[in-house]
Amino acid sequence: MADFIQDRIWLSTPHMSGHEMKYIEEAFHLNNVFPLGPNVTGLEKDLARFTGAAHCCCLSSGTAAIHLALIALGVEQGDEVICPTFTFSASANPIAYLKATPVFVESEASTWNIRPTAEEASLEEVIKARIKAGKRPKAIIVVHLYGMPARMDEIMRIAAEFEIPVVEDAAESLGSRYQGRSCGTWGDIGVLSFNGNKIITTSGGGAMLSNNKAYCDLAVFLSTQARDPAPYYQHSHIGYNYRMSNISAGIGRGQMEVLEQRVAKRRENFRFYQQALKNVPGIIFPDEPSDEFFSNRWLTTILVVPEQTGGVTNDDLRVGLDQLNIETRPLWKPMHLQPVFRNCPAYVDGTSEWLFNHGLCLPSSTSIKDQEREMVVDAIKKMIES
Ligand SMILES: *Cc1c(COP(=O)(O)O)cnc(C)c1O
Repeated sequence: MADFIQDRIWLSTPHMSGHEMKYIEEAFHLNNVFPLGPNVTGLEKDLARFTGAAHCCCLSSGTAAIHLALIALGVEQGDEVICPTFTFSASANPIAYLKATPVFVESEASTWNIRPTAEEASLEEVIKARIKAGKRPKAIIVVHLYGMPARMDEIMRIAAEFEIPVVEDAAESLGSRYQGRSCGTWGDIGVLSFNGNKIITTSGGGAMLSNNKAYCDLAVFLSTQARDPAPYYQHSHIGYNYRMSNISAGIGRGQMEVLEQRVAKRRENFRFYQQALKNVPGIIFPDEPSDEFFSNRWLTTILVVPEQTGGVTNDDLRVGLDQLNIETRPLWKPMHLQPVFRNCPAYVDGTSEWLFNHGLCLPSSTSIKDQEREMVVDAIKKMIES
C-alpha cells in the first residue's frame, strides 16, 4: 500500500551545531581523553556565564548531580525530602539512593509544577504537616517541567521561612527564566542535564550550579572518588565516579555556541503548533501564566479533552500518530502512581493525575522540518475532525 517510505518524526533528537568536533579534536590532539581537562572547565565557565550562576561543576548525568546535591545538603538515611509528584523518576530516585523518603506534593494547574500555597496538597501545607508529625523535611526538590518555570519567588520565600534548602531540578529548563532570572540559579543548588533528548546534549551528562562555592567544590571532590590530599590513595569519604569526561564536555562547548538559537526554535515550535491547532476543539496549550515566565519550551505539550474532541483521547492521538511514523509521548506518570514509590507519603488531589490522563508531548526537535510539523498538525486535525 505505502508508496513512499517516510522517516520517523521523533519527539526530541540531538542536534549538532557543527562546532563540536573542533573541541573534540583539540582534546585528542592534547590527549585530554579523561574526566577532566580544558573542555570541562570551559563548559563550566560557559554554563556559569549563560545562567548567571557563580559556580558550576560538570558531571556524568543530571541524576548524578541531584544525588550529589542531596549529599551536599546533608540528606541521610531516614530523612524526608519533598519532591513534586509530577516529574520524571530521576528527580526522585537519588532520594532513594540515600535511603531517605520522598514526600510527594501535587502540581498547580497553571504551571504543572509544585503548588506553593493552598489549603492543602501544597508545599507550605505539607511542610507544616510533616513538621507537626515530627519530621522536618531535609530538602525540597523543585522541577521546572517541560521548561516551564515553577513559581520560584513563592517557593524560596516558603523555604526560607522554614529554613529548608532547595534543589532546583532544571534538567528540562536550561534557557528558561522566571522574573528574568535563569532557572537553576534560584535554589541553593541547581541541576542541569545534557542527555540526548534535552535542549542541548553532551551525549550524556549533567551539571551542578550554585552560588555557594563549597557545594561545587564538594561535587568535584565526591565525583572524582573522594581522594584525600595525600600522595597515595587515601579516603575518608565514600566517593563516586561522576565527573564529566573531557570529550563529552567538548560536545557541550559546541552546543553552547547555539543554545540561544535552540531555545528560540523550541519556542517557535510551540507557537507553530498553537497557531495551527487553535481552531481544533478540545486541544489546550499550556500558556506562560504571565510575562514573568519564560519557558524554553523543551517539549511542546498539549492537553486533549475528549468531551470536546468528539471522544478522541490523548492516547488515540498517540496511537494514530505512531501509525503514521510520528513519535509522541504521554506526559510523565506522577510518582505517587509509580509502583516503586507506592508506599511513600503523597499529598495529592488529582491535578497531576488528570494532566497525565489528558496530556501528550508533540515532536519538538530543533532540527524538525516545517513540512514535518505540518504533517503532525494535519494528522491531528484529521483524527479529530473525522
Ligand atoms: C532528564 C531529567 C533528569 C535526569 O537527567 P539525566 O542526565 O538523564 O540523568 C532529571 N530530572 C528531570 C526532570 C529530567 O527530565
